[in-house]
Amino acid sequence: MHSFSDVFERVKEVCRGEMSEVAYNLWIDKLELTDMDSSTARLICSTEFMREIINEKYNALLTAAFEQTMGFPVKVEILSQETAAVRQPPAPPKKTEFIPEKEYSFETFVVGSGNSLAHAAAWAVANNPAKSYNPLFLHGGSGLGKTHLIYAICGRIRQNHPDYKLLYVKGEEFANELILAIRNGTTAEFKEKYRQADLLAVDDIQFIAGKESTQEEFFHTFNSLYECGKQIILTSDRPPKEIKTLEDRLRTRFEWGLLVDVQPPDFETRMAIISRKADSLGLKIPEDVAAFIAGKLKDNVRQLEGVVKRLEAHANLTGAPITILLAENAIQDIMTEHTPLPVTVDRIIDEVARTYGVTAEDIRGQRRSGQISTARQVAMYVVREITGMTQLKIGQEFGGRDHATVVYALQQVGKAIKTDPRKKETIEDIIKNIRNLNG
Ligand code: ADP
Ligand code: MG
Repeated sequence: MHSFSDVFERVKEVCRGEMSEVAYNLWIDKLELTDMDSSTARLICSTEFMREIINEKYNALLTAAFEQTMGFPVKVEILSQETAAVRQPPAPPKKTEFIPEKEYSFETFVVGSGNSLAHAAAWAVANNPAKSYNPLFLHGGSGLGKTHLIYAICGRIRQNHPDYKLLYVKGEEFANELILAIRNGTTAEFKEKYRQADLLAVDDIQFIAGKESTQEEFFHTFNSLYECGKQIILTSDRPPKEIKTLEDRLRTRFEWGLLVDVQPPDFETRMAIISRKADSLGLKIPEDVAAFIAGKLKDNVRQLEGVVKRLEAHANLTGAPITILLAENAIQDIMTEHTPLPVTVDRIIDEVARTYGVTAEDIRGQRRSGQISTARQVAMYVVREITGMTQLKIGQEFGGRDHATVVYALQQVGKAIKTDPRKKETIEDIIKNIRNLNG
């Protein structure tokens, strides 16, 4: 892929050949490309006055130049700095170089019937990177130890091969980082960074599905690493075939190596996890209390650990004995903590924005270009599905839109879901991704 700044340089060259030098310098040369997706290129000039002139006189030329450069038609939108809403870039990416964590090692991982296969596969990869299973694809519900296993693998490889370049990134961050790189014209650095890894772990890869440029880029990264015999580890909340908007060529590759699912722990494993966590905190939990907790919390290790941590805090503060009643309260608290957070609307908008290659500000804002309107309608629909919020309230959340606009958006999306299977899948994946984020 060319960087977008390359593309725009060429577009400008085409325009230059079609107009006087003076006019070119005045109207076209100082234009900047702010962003671009498969349907629209957005250019920005300084004043509203300029915007009107450029739009009237040169939009057609720019559109033709984009089509000539890209090989397909692209709509051109001109904005001015005077009126364009401030477009905030996504948050800068976190550092992806792997940092070992003592908590997440093989030593602290409790093996039981639900995860023994995943554990064995992880152990094989850790001791024989790129030579046993490549890629290793772990899937299963939230809080079952997938991230723990990635860290355990990386920690072990770091011991055996201190010189290896281990990259760990969350699917979401990979997507954000690429959007930023495209916007800043630094895709070359982005590629370089990922292609020089000796091991690349992408945690929660489901987040790249449905995002065109992200999947494209990941496809090339995957091939490049795979061909060089580098280890790839992927995790997801579901197997590749259930990630609906994942490109087929990626799905095929994800299934090349080993697919293992991580199942919830059985009762004995849950007991062992409680006891290990309690030990690590220097806490003694009576057998009957541990059994009570293990009987109540069945499908999320994170929650099990949360309860133990709460009991420890309580014991520390009050010195009171650990009882079933106390455990019951702790479980209640944990369950409330795990119900959806009030920030859901933000998260929904972020995820929809990522999917459509627009920003959260676009969705809340007033612009109506094709891609933004679509993303906005989908975001409203998903908010409605997930939160059950009233149409009035949805309107307020989306930049003070009136009730009728929301009704219309919900209808449009409802219709599209019935007639367009692709759209239906995209929305299903968005909803799953958001539920998983809040899980
Ligand atoms: P996932 O990535 O599957 O959502 P994590 O790896 O983040 O889950 O695990 C959630 C928490 O539960 C972490 O603190 C992790 O250490 C712990 N955990 C999960 N499975 C195990 C296990 N088998 N033994 C010990 N701790 C576990
Ligand atoms: Mg995880």
